[in-house]
Amino acid sequence: MLPNFEASIEFAQQQDKQDPLAHFKDLFHFPQHNNQPAIYFCGNSLGLQPKSVAAAIETELNTWKELAVGGYFKGPNPWLHYQEYLKPSLAKLVGAKETEVSAMNALTVNLHLLMLSFYRPTKDRFKIIMEAGAFPSDQYAVETLVKHFGLNPTDAIIEIAPLEGKKTLSTTQIVDIIENTGEALAMVLFGGINYYTGQFFDLKTITTATHKVGAIAGFDLAHVTGNIPLSLHNWNVDFAAWCSYKYLNAGPGAVGGYFIHEKHVINSNMPRLAGWWGNDEKERFKMEKGFIPKTNASGWNISTAQVFNMVGLKASLLIINQADIHQMRAKSIALTAYLEFLLNQLDRISFEIITPEDKDQRGAQLSLYFKERAKDIHNKLIDNGVIVDFREPGVIRVAPAPLYCSFEDVYRFYEILKNNF
Ligand SMILES: *Cc1c(COP(=O)(O)O)cnc(C)c1O
Repeated sequence: MLPNFEASIEFAQQQDKQDPLAHFKDLFHFPQHNNQPAIYFCGNSLGLQPKSVAAAIETELNTWKELAVGGYFKGPNPWLHYQEYLKPSLAKLVGAKETEVSAMNALTVNLHLLMLSFYRPTKDRFKIIMEAGAFPSDQYAVETLVKHFGLNPTDAIIEIAPLEGKKTLSTTQIVDIIENTGEALAMVLFGGINYYTGQFFDLKTITTATHKVGAIAGFDLAHVTGNIPLSLHNWNVDFAAWCSYKYLNAGPGAVGGYFIHEKHVINSNMPRLAGWWGNDEKERFKMEKGFIPKTNASGWNISTAQVFNMVGLKASLLIINQADIHQMRAKSIALTAYLEFLLNQLDRISFEIITPEDKDQRGAQLSLYFKERAKDIHNKLIDNGVIVDFREPGVIRVAPAPLYCSFEDVYRFYEILKNNF
């Protein structure tokens, strides 16, 4: 139940007093503006640095310094098993078994690798459905994937665009297109949340519809993991990948995460591009011919664990675990609803919130579409110590991440818009 919102600083501060997650703000470094912490609503792009990361990096530097190659087997976090340290928390975040998740590389690389495992086009079944206006990297990945198989992207890729007069998609519309594509459909590759509109899709219903026509359901969860709790295992999702530098606060270019459903990971015959990190540690150092994959998601690991690229994630997951993703989501729903309430009080600037009003169809982010003056307004916000981002042609994305943003931050943001326009 959401409280009756009021457009006042007292109300915002009162909400912060009652917020069980309020103290988590102190665990993060904030960029400074006029010697004050900035209001940071850009966690959908790059999460803030947990204060604990520096010491965690120092620990691994010391292991390297003192144990050198011995660090693979000894020290506080033997590197040989580094992925294992991340699995319990990742599994909790996406609703998976620990055997279904792992971390490696980065998001787009992992999308390529997973799609190469799951996309097996035939003469009759080769189509891929994705949302129109997907994140460009995903568009390029799918386009080059189908070309790799000698197919024409125009024939092979079906993009679902909003209906006339709409900014977002309806689940019925998506399901209808899946059903109509029928046996020609090989795979659905959807963003879990569209990065531009902020719409969160109904992954469970999309997966069920996809399976009904005998196709594979894969998702890019870049904007979802650490933002909205998921149940990938129970929803029967085939595979998913995400990055760790947005809502997971693991740092720029941090290691990517992925999920592969149990029914696939136990199948050693699943096609994949392999490397020595994907086979059993007991076999790995025999250096023998013939790849025998691990029968869990790590069976897709290829290269030596990139330890320094995982340290930030390990440190950050510790914090997220304490905060609990369900508690974070509850706060996030209230915080974003408060933002929406305040924005709707502004009558001197004209904009449209293109993110769905339904809380079940959005995460932390609201996307504001300005027909005019978007750049102006964005600049004014930056000048006043509010960090949000701008996306052409006129969208300002505002994402109060619940771990380190407060109701007072949201109120201050509103006040700046109210007083300057
Ligand atoms: C952030 C994001 C990416 C970025 O991919 P990288 O390979 O990590 O650079 C890709 N897809 C989506 C949907 C994103 O939101």
